[in-house]
Amino acid sequence: MQDVVAAAGSLYIVATPIGNLRDITLRALDILKTVDIVAAEDTRVTQGLLNAYGLQKKLVALHEHNERVAAERLVADLGEGKSVAYVSDAGTPGVSDPGVHLVRQARAAGIPVEVIPGPSAVAAALSVAGMEAGQWLFYGFLPSKPAARRKALEDLKTLPYALVFYEAPHRVAETLDDLCVVLGAEREIAIARELTKLFEQVHVCRLAEAGEWLAADVNRGRGEFVIIVQGAAPVQADAGKLRETLTALLAALPLKQAVALAVQLTGEKKNTVYELALELQKHGNVDDHPA
Ligand code: SAM
Repeated sequence: MQDVVAAAGSLYIVATPIGNLRDITLRALDILKTVDIVAAEDTRVTQGLLNAYGLQKKLVALHEHNERVAAERLVADLGEGKSVAYVSDAGTPGVSDPGVHLVRQARAAGIPVEVIPGPSAVAAALSVAGMEAGQWLFYGFLPSKPAARRKALEDLKTLPYALVFYEAPHRVAETLDDLCVVLGAEREIAIARELTKLFEQVHVCRLAEAGEWLAADVNRGRGEFVIIVQGAAPVQADAGKLRETLTALLAALPLKQAVALAVQLTGEKKNTVYELALELQKHGNVDDHPA
């Protein structure tokens, strides 16, 4: 396996550890070692990472307050053949972190953009939560103002996907309260804090118990949090209503059209409707129509 060397004029988006400094990939180290410029969300934070690996690099700042201007400068450097790596403070740039404008500006200028994937708190939390989260929605940070936060949660309330949030320690208690009030007490929640760090902790309970768990120990409110909440239970099919609608449609339309229309009207899955249509026809509930 050969070391990777940064190519002239290429931009690399590099994921870095979310706590444990050893969680860095070999490829990330190769790129950080060989690029001309390392652009960082906070140069002091990244200096710590580079020091840990004995790397001395030219660092420039690109954060949410200067992203567009700093991106313009970096794109000019890239255009002159310099290679650039972008890293945020922790985890994957562009995931609730700066980096998006830089990527867009670089692409627009025809500059090659490559990803050096690695840690991200959302993936780390999902992998360790042990929750049924086949389909999930990553929301990131909820609004900080209570009214806006509750409104955002109202909009998410009926979605049948696990909901993944990032949260800051000073807001986690009120967010847990709002989650319980808006989404209901019964859903399962996983609270994942300080992942990959000394006090890593994952607690799974019902939303009703989450606030109490947090308040029981002052240390539980400290650090960085990912919150995963079970999705809304799927709405139970109204079998009687579907049968009634389908019977009426099959009496007037060919099977395919009747099924398509019933799917539109009821929101049921096509397979469910199709099977019921065949059953209705088979048992003579409706006249056979040419398909
Ligand atoms: N770009 C990062 C990523 O890929 O995960 C996320 C950056 S965002 C500004 C920071 C938030 O990520 C924190 O407030 C917290 O919600 C979450 N986070 C980051 N590191 C974490 C960790 N070690 N344990 C739990 N959550 C973490």
